[in-house]
Amino acid sequence: MIHYFKLTLMMLFLCGCGDLSNHSKTRQEWMEPNHKLKVLSTTAMIDDLVRQIGGDTVDPYVLIKGELDPHSYQLVKGDDELLARASLIFYNGLGLEHGPSLQNYLYNQRKALPLGNLIMNDNPELILSVLGTTDPHIWMDISLWSYTIPYIVNALSAQDPAHAEMYKENGEKLLTELLEAHKQVKEELHQVPEDKRYLVTSHDAFNYFTRAYLADPHDREWRYRFAAPEGLAPESQISAYHIHEIVQQLERFHINVIFPESNVSRDSIKKIVDAAKERGIKVKIADAYLYADAMGKPGSDGDTYIKMIQHDAKTIARELMHNQGKSTHDPS
Ligand SMILES: [Zn+2]
Repeated sequence: MIHYFKLTLMMLFLCGCGDLSNHSKTRQEWMEPNHKLKVLSTTAMIDDLVRQIGGDTVDPYVLIKGELDPHSYQLVKGDDELLARASLIFYNGLGLEHGPSLQNYLYNQRKALPLGNLIMNDNPELILSVLGTTDPHIWMDISLWSYTIPYIVNALSAQDPAHAEMYKENGEKLLTELLEAHKQVKEELHQVPEDKRYLVTSHDAFNYFTRAYLADPHDREWRYRFAAPEGLAPESQISAYHIHEIVQQLERFHINVIFPESNVSRDSIKKIVDAAKERGIKVKIADAYLYADAMGKPGSDGDTYIKMIQHDAKTIARELMHNQGKSTHDPS
């Protein structure tokens, strides 16, 4: 037993599965000076890239931990000290972090970089909007998320020019890994027949994912392939109109599975299932949830950025292959 435990620990270190001690650091421990560059990221998806680009010379930390909602996160006691301690802060931007206290802080800090806004300034055609509001969920398309790499490399290099070459090399290596993962995810989802590639989840987090992985390049109607009862930020309540809209979507495209998300209440999708049943449409909630606004817990199959998207791809491909395209009308 002891040997097995030791072996497992050794394997974790040998395979480079992240710096475990760093992941489990308390706020107080992170705030201790250690001659490393203190980099705070709002979300775990950003932190994952910072860790890989920064290597051992950077001391990274995540502000919005676990399953907390990044859309509505507000500063809590002690956050101001954490933010002040950071030499550099990366945030998603594009309106993701819109809890007023956090948003005000980020907007007024020169050391805080909104990665999504930087991408939008340089490549506006890549950014989506939903009913006139910018969609912040850019990490849900791996190739788009890889656009953040040069901004992270440049910001770390400006703070720490002595390691600029290493940041550049790590960034190039990461880019190769992300683009390979992007290709694999696309291939996996394109094994699902085109007429089954329709997705319904809890909130509007999968537009970029749908454009990248469920649509074909010239699919002008790709937006029909994704629908969610809750908007760009989970709202926890939905109108009868939205329920009706989603039920119509299920009927029109013969969709018979809805995906829950790891950090969003299932109340809305349960209402959809009930409303569909009343109209004689049989739809189920998928057994496994998807990761969207939060990565998985340490040790889960979504505990790194690439793993979370791969988990989503695998789950969606499996469910769509097995469930959709059959008769959606419940004979009972
Ligand atoms: Zn979201």
